[in-house]
Amino acid sequence: MSSNEIREIRGNKISMIFQDPMTSLNPFLRISTQMVETIQLHQKIDKKAAKAKAIEMLKLAGIPAPEKRIDQYPHQFSGGMRQRVMIAMGLSCNPEILIADEPTSALDVTIQAQILELMQELTRKLGTAVILITHSLGVVAGMCDTICVMYAGRIVERGRTEEIFESPRHPYTQGLIRSVPRLDQETKERLYSIPGQPPNVIDLPDCCPFYPRCEKAMDICREKYPPVASFENNQSASCWLYAKEAQNV
Ligand code: SF4
Repeated sequence: MSSNEIREIRGNKISMIFQDPMTSLNPFLRISTQMVETIQLHQKIDKKAAKAKAIEMLKLAGIPAPEKRIDQYPHQFSGGMRQRVMIAMGLSCNPEILIADEPTSALDVTIQAQILELMQELTRKLGTAVILITHSLGVVAGMCDTICVMYAGRIVERGRTEEIFESPRHPYTQGLIRSVPRLDQETKERLYSIPGQPPNVIDLPDCCPFYPRCEKAMDICREKYPPVASFENNQSASCWLYAKEAQNV
């Protein structure tokens, strides 16, 4: 695609919220300048209508006195409020997909919960699908319908959230779930952690990249990348443990 074709998709169909709202917003420009420019670029409306739309979006995102706040600079907002501005900006052109890359990890825990709730409420209201990128299994459990677990840049397991948590198939997913502290279970054992280190992603082996850390590794795991195996409940996993299921695909 040409740059112009891609620009039609960015913002209009797909938009993105980043981890740290302070570095995503331009510190030298008022919020109004940043939002109005984005809306005008994608919606082909005049400046006055774009500003009215920006104020409406800030209001929806829970910014108090949006008519006044819109003319302030990013440093005049708290971290949580800046992320609300980013959400308002991301959703201002009614995208079909919103990619949220660790949207709450730069915020403190109480604000995290408010931002996640806001994202859920707004995207449901506007009919936007969300791709949430996160390391937090707690956030995943509360927010997502479907999970793709990635290791070394590739999807290794995919399925409905409740199925992945109840019966994870891939040893990496199993390790991740075992590493979460449980308040509902009494235990005297040390909390599990996956041994070893992630591989160097610029020099990946042709085999399963998880094998040096995998408790279930077999000889074939060191030779070839595993095929995708699909299960009846639409869960799938890339692992040689399911070679038989992979043959039936
Ligand atoms: S393919 Fe082998 S090494 Fe890789 S996750 Fe499965 S069992 Fe472990």
